[in-house]
Amino acid sequence: MACVSFPYDAPVSQTLFDRASLVTPGGVNSPVRAFRAVGGTPRFMVSGAGPYLTDADGREYVDLVCSWGPMILGHAHPEVVAAVQEAVARGTSFGTPGEGEVALAEEIVDRIAPVEQVRLVSSGTEATMSAIRLARGFTGRAKVVKFAGCYHGHVDALLAAAGSGLATFALPDTPGVTGAQTGDTVVLPYNDLAAVRAAFAAHPGEIACVITEASPGNMGVVPPGEGFNQGLKDLCAENGALYISDEVMTGFRTSRAGWYGVDGVAPDLMTFGKVMGGGFPAAAFGGRRDIMAHLAPEGPVYQAGTLSGNPVATAAGLAQLRLLDDAAYTKVDAVSAEIRALVTGALTKEGVAHRLQAASNMFSVFFTADEVRDYEDAKKQEAFRFTAFFHSMLADGVYLPPSAFESWFVSTAHDERAVERIAAALPAAARAAAEVTA
Ligand SMILES: *Cc1c(COP(=O)(O)O)cnc(C)c1O
Repeated sequence: MACVSFPYDAPVSQTLFDRASLVTPGGVNSPVRAFRAVGGTPRFMVSGAGPYLTDADGREYVDLVCSWGPMILGHAHPEVVAAVQEAVARGTSFGTPGEGEVALAEEIVDRIAPVEQVRLVSSGTEATMSAIRLARGFTGRAKVVKFAGCYHGHVDALLAAAGSGLATFALPDTPGVTGAQTGDTVVLPYNDLAAVRAAFAAHPGEIACVITEASPGNMGVVPPGEGFNQGLKDLCAENGALYISDEVMTGFRTSRAGWYGVDGVAPDLMTFGKVMGGGFPAAAFGGRRDIMAHLAPEGPVYQAGTLSGNPVATAAGLAQLRLLDDAAYTKVDAVSAEIRALVTGALTKEGVAHRLQAASNMFSVFFTADEVRDYEDAKKQEAFRFTAFFHSMLADGVYLPPSAFESWFVSTAHDERAVERIAAALPAAARAAAEVTA
């Protein structure tokens, strides 16, 4: 973006990035970290404390990414750190069952009524991949319905968002995923129940499941319209398909019981990750007992993992969940509302057309005047304004997700001082967004 200047450089991060780029494709271990959408040098972080991150050049940022959601108590929460240290000292992996896994599973089952049984895995990708295999094994059907703009990890069958046309068969989004792998995937526009009804009519007895983000946060924040999730559940029930709610992002984030705690629509299967791992690789899928009974070793559908239910990860996740009481969610919701009001105020003052969309305490800014209800709407925004806004915030010590299509995340640790730093950075960023040209 020619018109966006990078207000200062980050020499140590740049040196690390150069080293990384020699030994790792693109210099990163997950693509969005590379700043490709906004340009500039990704910041290499060396430490985190509460709402702050410190980079390798010694600069401190208010963190509005929170590791893409998991760090809902802020960084290095003393009680989570203590639980991890205690677990590490007892050994890091046994390859046997352990009490920590039972306690974490009990905590999940206790919080989320539709989850009668749960299986622990190590990433959100594994959770959705396994849930889909289970849905296919349980129903004896092949096809999976997903929505354009919803991300469910890098599962081959789900790496297809192309063709938002009605009931089109999905083309893979990436080389390496074959047409055969996405050939049973049907991609539909989000928030469009008529399209779902038409897909069931077009493929009678063939659809194993509909998978959706409980409230999407991977195309920016695009909440389900009134009755959409209930409509999905009803259509699935009428047609003998399973309704899978992907709560990897929203789970234990948007309320004590995730998005289920907000809309009360009970899925057949659910997937979790992010917050439940407390910053470690822990994820899960679960749901109806009669469906979960099809998983090995109880049933025939195979699923496994060397590090599943790892004792350090489960200790971190359990410590985090036990600290997430009603007061914690009230606090996160309140600070989210405060920051949203500041962002909207600053952009409005500069006359920047925008939509601030929220799902509980998750939110994002779309640089467009119109409501965003699906991926096509999201793509209409003036993303170049976000780029200018992002770099101005970064220069003033606020770390936003480096893409206009990602949710912002806050934590219980975002206190008045952190909010003041955001407020101080916003006027210049809003001005930059107003002045930039495509
Ligand atoms: C992050 C995410 C995933 C993938 O989780 P990983 O742990 O990155 O594999 C899946 N679904 C949703 C909704 C997510 O936000």
